[in-house]
Amino acid sequence: MRYISTRGSGSVSPSDAVLLGIAPDGGLFVPEQFPQVKDQLKNWSSLPYEALCAKILSLYFTDFTQEELLAHAVSAYQGKFPAQVVPVRPVGCGPFVMELWHGPTLAFKDMALQVLPRLLSSAMEKTGEEKNILILVATSGDTGKAALEGFSGVARTAISVYYPKDGVSAAQRLQMVTQKGDNVHVCAVRGNFDDAQTGVKEIFGDGNFCGQISEKGYRFSSANSINWGRLAPQIAYYFWAYFKMAEQGAIHFGDQINTAVPTGNFGNILAAWYAKKMGLPIKTLICASNRNNVLTDFFQTGVYDRRREFFRTLSPSMDILISSNLERMLYEAAGRDSLRLSGLMDDLKQQGFFEVDKSMQAAFSDFTGGYLDDNATKAEIARVFNECGYLMDTHTAVAHGVYRAYIGETGDYTPTVIASTASPFKFAPDVLGALGKSWEGDELAACEYLAALSGLPLPQQIEALRTVPILHGAVCDKTAMRQDILEFLSKAPK
Ligand SMILES: *Cc1c(COP(=O)(O)O)cnc(C)c1O
Repeated sequence: MRYISTRGSGSVSPSDAVLLGIAPDGGLFVPEQFPQVKDQLKNWSSLPYEALCAKILSLYFTDFTQEELLAHAVSAYQGKFPAQVVPVRPVGCGPFVMELWHGPTLAFKDMALQVLPRLLSSAMEKTGEEKNILILVATSGDTGKAALEGFSGVARTAISVYYPKDGVSAAQRLQMVTQKGDNVHVCAVRGNFDDAQTGVKEIFGDGNFCGQISEKGYRFSSANSINWGRLAPQIAYYFWAYFKMAEQGAIHFGDQINTAVPTGNFGNILAAWYAKKMGLPIKTLICASNRNNVLTDFFQTGVYDRRREFFRTLSPSMDILISSNLERMLYEAAGRDSLRLSGLMDDLKQQGFFEVDKSMQAAFSDFTGGYLDDNATKAEIARVFNECGYLMDTHTAVAHGVYRAYIGETGDYTPTVIASTASPFKFAPDVLGALGKSWEGDELAACEYLAALSGLPLPQQIEALRTVPILHGAVCDKTAMRQDILEFLSKAPK
C-alpha cells in the first residue's frame, strides 16, 4: 500500500507517511485504495480486539509484519484497557454505545495515541532513520496527557509537554505531572495556552535549534491528529462494534447499521466512513456537533464557513471551527482531483469559506449532521440517566441527542451504535451540574460524588491521583522552552 497526498504530490510508503505526518505539499496522506474485506467479516467476528486491530492495520501498514502489528496492538491495549478493550452495550432506550474511553486517560484519544508511538518507533527502524524522535506538545489539558501515556517507555522516542501554568484544571495538571517514564518531560509555561502553543511552533520552525537537537541525536515530530497513524487504529473499533451488536442479537450478519459520532476534527467519524468503504455495512453516519456547528451547516448547504463566533461549550474537545480531517473526505468527494481540493482549501484559507458543487455534495450523502447546545446537552444527560440508567459525558450526550433528533426527523430505526468518547468521570463537575446536583470540594470530590450517585465504580485512574507522587515540577517562561528541552535531552535515555 502506498500513500498519496490530498494536494497531489507523489506517493510514499506507510512508514514514511507516519514519520512525515503531513505531506511535503501541505496535504494529508490517504491510502491509494481501500482494501476490500467483505469476505473476511465472518472470519474476523470472533477475534479479540487486539487481533482484529492488527488485521486491519496490516492492510494499511504493508511494510510491517502481522506479528509486529499484533505486538503493537497488544502492548497498546493489554493491561491498560479492560479485557474486551471496547465494551459495546445497549443504552436501554434504543441505541448501542461503544465505550472508547476505558484507557489510561479515560477518553477516546487513547485508542489511537497508544498505537501511534509504536508505529513511529518501528517506522524509524524500517526507514533507517538514525535520529530518535522528539515529540513536542502544547496542550490545554487532555491531549497532553494522552500523548504522554502513549509515548511513555516507547523506544527511540521522547516527549516534552508544555501546558499553561494557570490554564488547566487541577485534575488535568495532576494527571500530567505524575506521568511516569524516563523518556517523558512535562513543564508548565508562565502564560496562557497560546503562549505555550506559539512557543512550540516557533521551536519547530527554528532551523538553528533543530540543528542543536540533531547534534543530540533527535529530530522533531508531532503526534498530530492528522497523522495517518492516528486515523488507522480508529477504523478497527467500528468493525468491533458491528461484531458485538451481531453477537448480542441486535443485527444479523450482513445487516446495515448507523453510527452517531461526537465530532471535532472529523477523525473519528472519518474512520467510520473508511470502514464503510472497506465493506462494513454502515448506512448513515450521523455527525454530531455542539454549538460550533460548522459541520451541521456544511452538510445542509454545501457551504463550509468558519467566519463565525467561536463558542466555549461543555464539550470542549468538539470546540473546533476547522475540522482538519474533513480534507481527506473532500478529496474523495472531489473524485480524488487534488487541484479541485486544493482550490477549496485555498478558499478556506483566504476567504474563510468554501462551497462544494452538487456532485460533491452528493458524495456526502452517507453523512447527516446535527447539533446540540449546552442546555440541550445537559437535558440529554439527565434524561438518559433518569429514564435509561445510563450515564454519559458531555460529548457522548451531544451524539445521543443528535441521534434522537435524527430518528424523529427520519423514522430511521436502523440499529445504531453511538461512539462514546469520554468517561462521565472525566467531566464530573459538568455531569453533576446536568443532573442538578451540587457538591463541595475539588474535582476529585466531584468524581467521588458522581460514583456514589450513579453506582458506577470510581475509575482507578482517578483514584490514583490522590496518592501518586508528583514527578514534574518544572516551570519556565515561554522564552526559556529551548533551554528546558536541552536539559531534558541531556537526561533522556538514548
Ligand atoms: C477529540 C475528541 C472528540 C472529537 O473527535 P474528532 O476525531 O476530533 O472528531 C470527541 N470527544 C472527545 C471526548 C474527544 O476527546
